[in-house]
Amino acid sequence: MLRFDVMTLFPEMVKAPLSESIIGRAQKAEKLKVVCHNIRDYSKDRHHRVDDTPYGGGKGMLMMPDPVYDCFCAIPKEGERRRVIYLSPKGKVLTQKKARSLATFDQIILLCGHYEGIDQRVLDEIVEEELSIGDYVLTGGELAATVVIDAVGRLIDGVLPDPICHEEESLSSGLLEYPQYTRPVEWHGVRVPEVLQGGNHQKIRAWRDEKAVELTVKNRPDLLSDKGES
Ligand code: SAM
Repeated sequence: MLRFDVMTLFPEMVKAPLSESIIGRAQKAEKLKVVCHNIRDYSKDRHHRVDDTPYGGGKGMLMMPDPVYDCFCAIPKEGERRRVIYLSPKGKVLTQKKARSLATFDQIILLCGHYEGIDQRVLDEIVEEELSIGDYVLTGGELAATVVIDAVGRLIDGVLPDPICHEEESLSSGLLEYPQYTRPVEWHGVRVPEVLQGGNHQKIRAWRDEKAVELTVKNRPDLLSDKGES
């Protein structure tokens, strides 16, 4: 079972979204485990302070190295394959390919920064990799950690009802997914394409392939020239 350990100052920001729906059910069914660790619990300061001003000046506060390091040292080891990841806008951007590779680990430790980030020395000591969820800046790593857990968690065997779900969908094949329709057959005057209503699987496949290429050319042409990175 893949175990995620999340180091954070705001555990509820991580626990709450992951307790719902598919990932919530997967945790109950013990397909994966999410354990949150409150970095503030490791502050030795009388007022439980975890941040201080940056050397050299500048706005905002930085998380101090000691509470982060002590929190990390308290996390038990699970299995052979373990990865320590700092969620950061400076990291490589998460892709479906990366999510697939992370799903093969036994334990993933996710470090969430807050404020202006974390003292570089502790990052250099414990972090193996930095991962961003996109080219924008969040207030903290918590939402990013839940994105990583959701994207990786749903690839674990038994989490989704049918593995075909993720083989066919956007990015797994290097293309965006074709449009999909359900009942009613006509809605607001628009009918479900005829080809999908018939049982000719070859024609349906060809229609879906065509639409997937059309959509990818329109929205994400970069994927066509860069298939390996999806
Ligand atoms: N001063 C930092 C910089 O310019 O790189 C940004 C700090 S940000 C306000 C606070 C925390 O949010 C970061 O330490 C990181 O953990 C998280 N974070 C922000 N944007 C992120 C992103 N795109 N992906 C992953 N984590 C992010």
